[in-house]
Amino acid sequence: MTPFDPQLFRQQFPLLNNYENIDTESKGDKNPLVYFDNAATTQKPQQVIDIANHYYQVFNANVHRASHQLSSQATIAFENARNLTQKFINAKSVKEVIWTKGSTESINVITQSLARNILKQGDEIAICASEHHANIVPWQIVAKQTGAIIKVLPLSSSGHIDLKVIDKLINNKTKFVACAQISNVLGKINPIQTVINKAKSVGAISIIDGAQTVAHVAVDVQALDCDFYVFSAHKMYGPTGVGVLYGKQALLESMQPYQGGGEMIKNVSFEQGTSYNELPFKLEAGTPNIAGVVAFAETLEFIWPLLSDIDQGYSRYEKKLTQYCYQALVTIEQVEFIVDGVPDIPVIAFTINGHHNHDIAIALDSYGIAIRSGHHCAMPLMSYLHIDGCLRVSLAAYNTFTEVDIFITHLKSIVSEFEPEENHLENSHDETIAVNTSPEVKVTSEPKAAMDRIIELFVNTKSWDSRHREIMLLSRELLRLDKTLRSDVTLISGCESKAWLYATRSNDGTYSFTADSDAKIIRGLLVIVLAAFNHKSSQQIQSVNINQYFSTLGLMQHLSPSRGNGLIAIVDKIKTLSA
Ligand code: PMP
Repeated sequence: MTPFDPQLFRQQFPLLNNYENIDTESKGDKNPLVYFDNAATTQKPQQVIDIANHYYQVFNANVHRASHQLSSQATIAFENARNLTQKFINAKSVKEVIWTKGSTESINVITQSLARNILKQGDEIAICASEHHANIVPWQIVAKQTGAIIKVLPLSSSGHIDLKVIDKLINNKTKFVACAQISNVLGKINPIQTVINKAKSVGAISIIDGAQTVAHVAVDVQALDCDFYVFSAHKMYGPTGVGVLYGKQALLESMQPYQGGGEMIKNVSFEQGTSYNELPFKLEAGTPNIAGVVAFAETLEFIWPLLSDIDQGYSRYEKKLTQYCYQALVTIEQVEFIVDGVPDIPVIAFTINGHHNHDIAIALDSYGIAIRSGHHCAMPLMSYLHIDGCLRVSLAAYNTFTEVDIFITHLKSIVSEFEPEENHLENSHDETIAVNTSPEVKVTSEPKAAMDRIIELFVNTKSWDSRHREIMLLSRELLRLDKTLRSDVTLISGCESKAWLYATRSNDGTYSFTADSDAKIIRGLLVIVLAAFNHKSSQQIQSVNINQYFSTLGLMQHLSPSRGNGLIAIVDKIKTLSA
């Protein structure tokens, strides 16, 4: 095999080479995309994209059912992917490979088709403190359905499962042990072999979440001897909407499908009920993601040689890049890693002292640098570590040392440019920080004038970079809310960084809103939103065309309709309070 060449590797990913970061254009320079969000999903190589297109253009048909050639061709490609997957993870039989739409669905199949039938009141399920919600919520659902209890395995200071207490927490009451091999936040390889052996010793069923493993480490399910292993194609350069549920055949045989229809039946009758198909089809209801599965076979062809290369060029490159990025972060005084030590895969989580993680991530985005901030679908881990959220840089082997340098340079300048966040709540006696303690908010400005002023500020901004700057400047205008006004009642749910909204109604029927957030960027956006609604009557508030206003300001493409910065949630709350 030819030695791993990072440059050649990168060239295979069209998005990385074609993406034009026009909206981050600053002073005439285009910022190239620096994509450091690979733990969320990786980019796809040309050959994987081509195969999915090829399927649709050349042999699109449903699998298994029809007796025509096109369907046979699709079925052969589809089942070939299953054979390859069996070999890739070294499963004993092809019957042990079930297609799902991702790790999340794989875990839900286990909890609803197996755990639900086994668990009794008082039985225990052991999961780790650092699990992704996908390996927590399905267990909470089944625990509620059955009366089982969830036990949480703690972490050591390095972020690994703490083995000191597993004898106590995994005992003969434990029926299921479900752990991620690698957490999507901590990037440390957990001692899962010990966990699996411990589960076996008490007769518990072991489930390993390999979502973050498969792009970095070769997996051998027989060597691990776990009962189940789950992963998603899209985190290993493959398509979205394809996941794998590996399970030992005897356990899969014992499972009752929790979804019905499609290829999972043998016979359906109104009189005799339904009998189920053989494995693996029994647990695959409905038309599968055929294009995705076919493209996944190509993904395996792509990644397999890299993971099994005895020279380990790919893995060594990832390790060097991780080390380089970690050491560069160490040089920034304000960086605080959320656990000790360099991660085992290129996933590095940290906070920046004095700065809200959303402010940093959004500022980096204005230079075309994509990293993650927030809870990373691991809210219990955030509470375990006593943090609200953190930043996560997750690299792939197509990332370069130069990209790390760009990231670090911008991070340093952002950290030095932004004023560190003062804790206004603790310093509320300080005259320099204005704090709003009064429920009575005086009407001080004409609503129309307030909106016009904001529009004027944004009208000449050409890029997200400059709009971002304006938003950050506006954040200074927001009068901070006093601690007493930050409560569950004023909290805006749906806003990813915490935000609070307080409303008062004047005698003339107009409303005044005050609001606050820990993130500067949200405070800036709150100033923009409040300018549209403050000092208006209920009727005027309901008729504000907020989308048009955001669009005039050039903010629309930066406001994700689902979570993003939660502006929609703020607008909703304003409308509800004044309705
Ligand atoms: N487990 C872990 C450790 C993950 O990182 C993720 C995805 N972030 C999941 C489970 C869920 O994967 P999917 O969304 O592909 O189902």
